[in-house]
Amino acid sequence: MTNGLRKAGILVVMLLLLNGLSSWGFLVHKTVQQLAIYQLPAPMVPFFYGYADQLIYESVRPDIRRNSDSTEAPKHFIDLEDFGKDALHHMPMNWDAAVKQYGKDSLLKYGYVPYQVVFLQKKLTEAFRMKNKDSILFYASDIGHYIADAHVPLHTTSNFDGQLTGQKGLHSLWETMVPEIEINSYQLHTSHQAQYLKDPAAAIWKAVRQSHALLPDLLAKEKEVSLQFTDAEKYRIQVRKGKEYKNYTSAFAKAYGAVLKPTVNQQLLLSAELTADFWYTSWQDAGKPDLATISNFSDAKKAAYQQEYLLFQQNELLKQNKLQAKKVEPQGR
Ligand SMILES: [Zn+2]
Repeated sequence: MTNGLRKAGILVVMLLLLNGLSSWGFLVHKTVQQLAIYQLPAPMVPFFYGYADQLIYESVRPDIRRNSDSTEAPKHFIDLEDFGKDALHHMPMNWDAAVKQYGKDSLLKYGYVPYQVVFLQKKLTEAFRMKNKDSILFYASDIGHYIADAHVPLHTTSNFDGQLTGQKGLHSLWETMVPEIEINSYQLHTSHQAQYLKDPAAAIWKAVRQSHALLPDLLAKEKEVSLQFTDAEKYRIQVRKGKEYKNYTSAFAKAYGAVLKPTVNQQLLLSAELTADFWYTSWQDAGKPDLATISNFSDAKKAAYQQEYLLFQQNELLKQNKLQAKKVEPQGR
């Protein structure tokens, strides 16, 4: 890594820290994108594996965009309770109908992640139709990000940080601290193969409902684990620029992760499966264009893919240092 790159990396991390509430950490967003690639049918592999590095690296771009683009934030979540009782089951799946019912201002305020996913699916389909390499990569990595966000239960509620139930800090505890501590024990294989989505809007809404349904348990378990901790053991207080920040300790995250099992792992896998489905559906809707002329699939890459695919099937990616998000580079490079 060059010095410049390292500095850029540090800057990105700092921006994300400043950003506070974002979404799955780098680790999960990158992993979701990588796992989705192995679920694609053969004709899509040369393109998606060929540009895997880019797809994985850019999986976190929408979170970085939040720092400079004020319209970005509501694309990552939906505070369902703010749309009225039972909104989860009654909200129209169509954006125009939702605007008519709630007003655009409400959607921009309380979030609209499922609509964003459908919006991007259309863009991705169009990019495939045009066989535009850069646009395909752009929309494919973006849609994977928002699909993953929709699988975080705390992205579907107005109690997004546990702030309404005296559990402030829960957001990053669940989506960042726990997976970072536990990923070594995760199942990072699924036998799922990308499926065509007849109704993409219904598919992302189903994911939002499934995700939202996990909330009561996730909140209750935090209370349950708290009984075993004193405040001093549970929280880490930091003072930055005269302001006090209270975060959960690693010890608490570890205990919380242990009782949550296997929810976080499951949401990670579901994110990857649905991402593969959306990529595949867009490609199919575009008329299954031949991607050979815009792919980047040398013999060496082909061999690497075959090796990784086997490791994926055996849940060995992490152990064999092939999980991009956790990859340890050899010394001296
Ligand atoms: Zn996000």
